[in-house]
Amino acid sequence: MLVEIQVPCPHCGEIFTSTADTSQGDYSTIEDCQVCCAPMTIEVICEPGRVDEVRVNPA
Ligand SMILES: [Zn+2]
Repeated sequence: MLVEIQVPCPHCGEIFTSTADTSQGDYSTIEDCQVCCAPMTIEVICEPGRVDEVRVNPA
């Protein structure tokens, strides 16, 4: 189940929209910022269909 999330970039501070796949529960992924293209680790705390928390760190 895909849920839209707001991701604040730890490099440039811009907030962009991404999608989280909540079907498998908590996970982390590396994604590039859609604004400055710098990589970051996105940790998604979720249950199927619902995102509880998004943690972002520079990768
Ligand atoms: Zn950025």
